[in-house]
Amino acid sequence: MAATTAGAVPARRRSLPLPRIWPVRATDLYALAIGNAVLIGAMWVRHGGLDELGTVAGAFMAAGQLSALFGTYLALLEVVLMSRAPWLDQAFGMDRLAWAHRWVGFATVWLLVAHFALTTTGFALGDGTTVVDEALTLVTTYPFVLLAAAALALFVMVAITSMRAARRRMGYETWFGTHLYVYLAIALGSAHQVVVGSDFADDPVARGYWIALYVITFGLLVAHRVVQPVLTSARHRLRVANVVPEAPGVVSIYLAGRDLDALPIRAGQYVLVRFLTADGWYRAHPFSISAAPNGRFLRITVKDLGDWTSRLQAIPVGTRVFVEGPYGILTGIRRTRRKLLFIGGGVGIAPIRAMLEAFPAEPGDVTVLYRARSWDDVVFRAELDHLARSRGATVHYLVGRRGSPGVPAEPLGAAAIGALVPDAADRDVYLCGPASLMGAARTSLRTLGVPGARIHLESFSY
Ligand SMILES: Cc1cc2nc3c(=O)[nH]c(=O)nc-3n(C[C@H](O)[C@H](O)[C@H](O)COP(=O)(O)OP(=O)(O)OC[C@H]3O[C@@H](n4cnc5c(N)ncnc54)[C@H](O)[C@@H]3O)c2cc1C
Repeated sequence: MAATTAGAVPARRRSLPLPRIWPVRATDLYALAIGNAVLIGAMWVRHGGLDELGTVAGAFMAAGQLSALFGTYLALLEVVLMSRAPWLDQAFGMDRLAWAHRWVGFATVWLLVAHFALTTTGFALGDGTTVVDEALTLVTTYPFVLLAAAALALFVMVAITSMRAARRRMGYETWFGTHLYVYLAIALGSAHQVVVGSDFADDPVARGYWIALYVITFGLLVAHRVVQPVLTSARHRLRVANVVPEAPGVVSIYLAGRDLDALPIRAGQYVLVRFLTADGWYRAHPFSISAAPNGRFLRITVKDLGDWTSRLQAIPVGTRVFVEGPYGILTGIRRTRRKLLFIGGGVGIAPIRAMLEAFPAEPGDVTVLYRARSWDDVVFRAELDHLARSRGATVHYLVGRRGSPGVPAEPLGAAAIGALVPDAADRDVYLCGPASLMGAARTSLRTLGVPGARIHLESFSY
């Protein structure tokens, strides 16, 4: 069944897009990453990498050095990608960072395995022995090589647990926990590299540069994963102020605290939330704010999709809360068009609800498509209708099982969206919901002529 709410009260127009919070662009960060890669290549040349290519053993050794340098560089880049630095999130979005993290991770492990194989073969050729004997000699007699071998084994273990088949069989927390071994692996491998690596042992400038890369990388990690959340939580002292049922298995949790108008969060963004209970303090779960920031409270809306979100349905009022963030790119800084189309599915309506409330718009500028399986699953109906009336927006509820009376077989197919929003191609589209819904809606939007750069989406799993 489809239902529509429309309103026509004027709203104030502001400039588009909203200013960036951080003065950093993706291109700056690409330039920085490529610049460092060039420096590392130059360092290898300066230390005679090219000169070694004259003999077969030398070529293996030189290739082994190069793969160690770039393998370590990518390992550090991996840590930076997941440092949760807000400027990285603003430039790329967590989805793209997670995607890059995955593939940079596999490349890291391949390069480090290549380093081990190439260097051992190079030494074996030089010593006239077998690769296996050489590997045993290196591991048992060379300083720090045993630690480096342990580091490599940890990297390989983490890569295996990240392969899709293994990942599907593991809970999120177990998978996340195994990833922490990467830090140990980097620490174990670093001594081997800085103390005996031919690029660093005799060159204090190169050694200083390399140590600086480590310090900056782990500095970012500590700053954004430890210091910033501790400071934010200490300043705002968030607590659960109220828990309001919205639908079966869905509650809104109101978080109250101090100085909330100083928290730089925008509608469409999310925070990583830890509820400080005996079994909650060690779990950080992402939740979008479902009401525009107002300086009095933050509201998140939680659907019971698993173990922890089921327990959150009855989280006691008064529970202390620790937050990291804000993060997320479903914000006005991506906006390029006056007209907007919001598409939400399931609990993905939460950030859409906040954006509908907060984004500047004229009457007629905003259309919302809200897809839900049944009217029982629809949340915020009264709030959405009220916002639609007061902001001059239109909300279409696309409710019911596919193909049931009044519901098209493809509720978010190109034909259905095109019929409800004929000018979709002229709008910025903000999209949030289950992966299948987002995939289908994205394909339809492209068919309707919306350029990829104007489709802004946030996936609720990574
Ligand atoms: C950016 C973002 C915003 C989100 N906003 C909301 C929201 O406003 N309302 C809402 O109800 N849900 C939201 N989610 C989803 C919510 O975080 C997960 O449903 C919740 O973490 C599941 O935890 P669980 O232990 O109950 O379930 P589990 O059974 O452990 O997990 C279910 C699925 O959720 C994902 N998940 C689990 N834990 C995490 C985690 N710590 N970080 C990232 N993904 C995880 C995994 O992909 C897993 O397959 C959001 C997710 C993301 C990534």
